[in-house]
Amino acid sequence: MKALVQRTKDKQSIVLEEVREPLPGRGEVKVKVMAAGICGTDVHGISSLRPPVILGHEFSGVVVEVGEGVERVKIGDRVTSETTVFHCGQCVYCREGHFNLCPYRKGIGSGVDGAFAEYIVVPEVTVHGLPSFLSFEEGAVLEPLACAVHAVLEQARVEKGERVLVLGPGPLGILVAWVARSQGAQVILAGKADDRERLEKAQTYPLDFVLDVDSVNLQEFVESRVDPYGVDVVFECSGALPAVYSGLQLLRKRGRFFQLGILHREVSLDFDEYLFSRELILSGSRTQKKSSWEKAIAMLTEHRFPLQNLITHVLPLENWSEGFMLTRTKEAIKVVLKP
Ligand SMILES: [Zn+2]
Ligand SMILES: [Zn+2]
Repeated sequence: MKALVQRTKDKQSIVLEEVREPLPGRGEVKVKVMAAGICGTDVHGISSLRPPVILGHEFSGVVVEVGEGVERVKIGDRVTSETTVFHCGQCVYCREGHFNLCPYRKGIGSGVDGAFAEYIVVPEVTVHGLPSFLSFEEGAVLEPLACAVHAVLEQARVEKGERVLVLGPGPLGILVAWVARSQGAQVILAGKADDRERLEKAQTYPLDFVLDVDSVNLQEFVESRVDPYGVDVVFECSGALPAVYSGLQLLRKRGRFFQLGILHREVSLDFDEYLFSRELILSGSRTQKKSSWEKAIAMLTEHRFPLQNLITHVLPLENWSEGFMLTRTKEAIKVVLKP
């Protein structure tokens, strides 16, 4: 089968090549991939990548074969899968239910072969049925939605009436903003001038404010239109250092800051100011857990968020490099590849 393989840690080593089709072992299912979304981590890289590996972790498809002992999932089912396909089950994080933090965790498309291929094999326990109202393309966006749910509901525990600032209007930022808004928070989504296409798209979602920080002074805006004390929660989804500093500046005392974008560099912070004087809470949010997926699917069923609007480009797998380029240049919101 055709698959997009990253051969070494170097992003230049990505090649589309012919590989052997995977076989489902005990408790595993084989899925024909119908749609697979390109994530920023596919394009920019993550430290947990263990090459050579088939990339791609946001996907949906149809079950074509099931291994021994598989009972719940049937051939022909429309499905997607959680990305954590292995966790040890023994460590303190696994015992507390934080499978995403297990030191032995393996994710598809980074630790084990992923979905930029004609077929993928995943454990039955990580498979979720696609709700009938979702297309395969939309099914490929369930993974970032589950990440947003983990950040907003499980990490930040955003409450009704809180003021939330989301920095970075990429797919994750838009989804985080929507999940926070659906909790009854007041939400500002901010981007930069080169995010123009993304900000325009974001205007079509029910958010309170969508702003370009290159034309609006964010600090003045927050102070005059939102709250003179600052916002309660910041989600930094852009992975840009200036956004980190600006987000911290705009938090009220005792505010909560969550890093979701990958920075690829160190942040230098004045702890005396941020932690001691202002009692800020700094944390992050890494991928998602089973509970995040269950909540994400339940939310979609209830609110029918137009996931389709996030998908700006659908390309054949052969055109992967065009898709990667569109993702890198921020011209796209979500690019979906079809093997
Ligand atoms: Zn992703
Ligand atoms: Zn573990």
